Amino acid sequence: MNVLASRPRRLESYVCGSWTTGAREGVPLLDASTGAPVAFIDSSGIDFASTLAYGREKAGPALRRMSFHERAAMLKALGLALMDRKEEFYALSAATGATRADSWVDIDGGIGTLLSYASKGRRELPNTRVLLDGDAEALSKDGTFSAQHILSPLQGVAVHINAFNFPCWGMLEKLAPTLLAGMPAIVKPASQTAYLTELMVRRMIETGLLPEGAVQLIAGSVGDLLDHVEGQDVVTFTGSASTGRKLKSHPAVIGNSVRFTMEADSLNASVLGIDAGPGTEEFDLFVKEVAREMTSKAGQKCTAIRRVIAPRAHCDALVAALGDRLGKTVLGNPTDENVRMGPLASLDQRDEVRARIRDLLGDAEIVAGDPDMPRIVSGNAEAGAFLNPVLLYCDRPFEAKAVHDVEAFGPVSTVMPYDRAEEAVDLARRGKGSLVASVFTNDPAFAEEVVLGMAPFHGRVMIGNRVSARTSTGHGSPLPGLVHGGPGRAGGGEELGGMRGVKHYMQRTAIQGSPTLLSAVTGRWVAGAQTQTDGEHPFRKSLAELRIGDQLVTATRRVTLEDIEHFANFTGDTFYAHMDEEAARANPFFEGRVAHGYLIVSFAAGLFVDPAPGPVLANYGVDNLRFLTPVNPGDTLQVQLTCKEINPRVDAEHGEVRWDCKVTNQNDVAVAQYDVLTMVAKTRS
Ligand code: NDP
Repeated sequence: MNVLASRPRRLESYVCGSWTTGAREGVPLLDASTGAPVAFIDSSGIDFASTLAYGREKAGPALRRMSFHERAAMLKALGLALMDRKEEFYALSAATGATRADSWVDIDGGIGTLLSYASKGRRELPNTRVLLDGDAEALSKDGTFSAQHILSPLQGVAVHINAFNFPCWGMLEKLAPTLLAGMPAIVKPASQTAYLTELMVRRMIETGLLPEGAVQLIAGSVGDLLDHVEGQDVVTFTGSASTGRKLKSHPAVIGNSVRFTMEADSLNASVLGIDAGPGTEEFDLFVKEVAREMTSKAGQKCTAIRRVIAPRAHCDALVAALGDRLGKTVLGNPTDENVRMGPLASLDQRDEVRARIRDLLGDAEIVAGDPDMPRIVSGNAEAGAFLNPVLLYCDRPFEAKAVHDVEAFGPVSTVMPYDRAEEAVDLARRGKGSLVASVFTNDPAFAEEVVLGMAPFHGRVMIGNRVSARTSTGHGSPLPGLVHGGPGRAGGGEELGGMRGVKHYMQRTAIQGSPTLLSAVTGRWVAGAQTQTDGEHPFRKSLAELRIGDQLVTATRRVTLEDIEHFANFTGDTFYAHMDEEAARANPFFEGRVAHGYLIVSFAAGLFVDPAPGPVLANYGVDNLRFLTPVNPGDTLQVQLTCKEINPRVDAEHGEVRWDCKVTNQNDVAVAQYDVLTMVAKTRS
């Protein structure tokens, strides 16, 4: 369907396997610059209980049958397919008021997040359906009762209720971890910009890459959907604090203990260091960053800088520099390539921001930008939602309330002075919990005091200075690998953060039992579980033949003083504990000269390696290496090598095998313990 050709059009929801329009014609959604209708939205008539049930029953099992790597491959293919279509999204995005640069954050940023999760999922998760959380815990002295925490996908549906400002990124940053975890989702975009989300979901469904029902879309109100959420469902919300609180306290959410993640208003602060006066690189970077955060996406970013905290002595220079820079912002229709800032998403939104500026005027004065007379170079002055960037100054921020409480969700920031570092921290904290803060300083002591003071009140803190100026991702960019969310007023939720975000859609369960049964359940061999030895060296086995618990008990090797001296001279590691009997004896841990830890590891490899070419392709490292007991000359080493975990890759002819390696001495006491990591072919060549 050529969606762009048929504007304005009635948006459709994708529920229970088909695209459907609402029963009524719907509410018109207007182009932010021209006021022309782009689409009509209505979801009346949708059976929301069935939509939830469809996701749970149809898509949930299909997603859970896939391994993490299969889901990661699906996300990658999906991301690449969307990338191919991205110009179509850019064309429609302009109607939301977004410039090309704004749309880049939303569209390329959103697809990039999907691709980043695909790649991190492949690299950081095993190719399994269950995730192990931490190591096994021994619960009995004789080793017959142990425990392992596991994470398995929740069996409900994730309902994502999104804000209007990022119709693509807002959806994809939540979908990526949800789908990777193995959970289906229902996307509910904010109405104002839902036409762009609808187009992207349409293209996603058309790829055929997703199991049916894995992503459903509701264009319009969610009706009674929340009445039907259950204990295995998740609800995530981004938007205003008032709506968030209402949904979080919905009887079905409370009654069924539904996981609820909220990201709401945030009075993000940026602090200029005392050292960063006019003439320093940090001052210039700060001015650039504040102006950028105020104008990109017309300030409609949950992470935008709302409070500018600056040394009192530098405030005049700062206000002048910011006023100058903001005054040069070219405002107009974003389809005009000279335009640097588009309109707000809607006239309602502009009226709302103007009202919030009036609230701020109780505490602050406007020092740059007229909120009523937009200076536009293109677009419709009456029907377009244009607003100049507005800078305010609050001279007594410790006596003020509104500047720390009122979020004007547009190109609006307030400068406030401080005298000492602790005052800057105090002001930042008055936001009562924010998504992000930044500090611009080149003074390590100032950075330490301010960052540690602000950290408990923020989900992310960025330090800007001359060194990172060219590589910094900036104050306002949430990144897939970093936590996005904030305490208190910011909603108390946490999204992204790499694999942390995936775990929000999984249940953590402590499994207790005998080691052999634990291994059977988790797919990872644990100490004390059954082992098997069939005479064949496990390094001769391909992935197809290898089994968890396959074990090799090696021959023994006596360590001599000559070995230790040879190793010391050969490697240059002549540390006294290996070379000087008297000094070694004086050491509280040793009773004389000891073997190097790396000599033990090297001898262990010499004992367990099968040298001939075979399915083992490479050793790519060791994990958790610990030297447990000193090895003295005359001690005898032996190795127990046990196949611990097998991870075939989905897109290669090999996979990873983790081996438990335990090195013991003649008294059967463990002297070293670690995991050996190898690449092994799927079949024998
Ligand atoms: P809302 O809270 O009104 O809407 C957010 C989402 O919730 C939208 O998808 C909306 O759908 C949906 N929603 C609203 N009411 C209900 C309900 N009763 N049941 C289920 N879903 C509901 O916020 P807006 O997007 O309109 O933005 C308003 C303000 O929120 C902004 O001015 C800004 O202050 C703040 N905001 C904060 C953000 C942040 O991340 N910090 C991001 C965006 C906004 P629908 O659009 O169909 O009503």
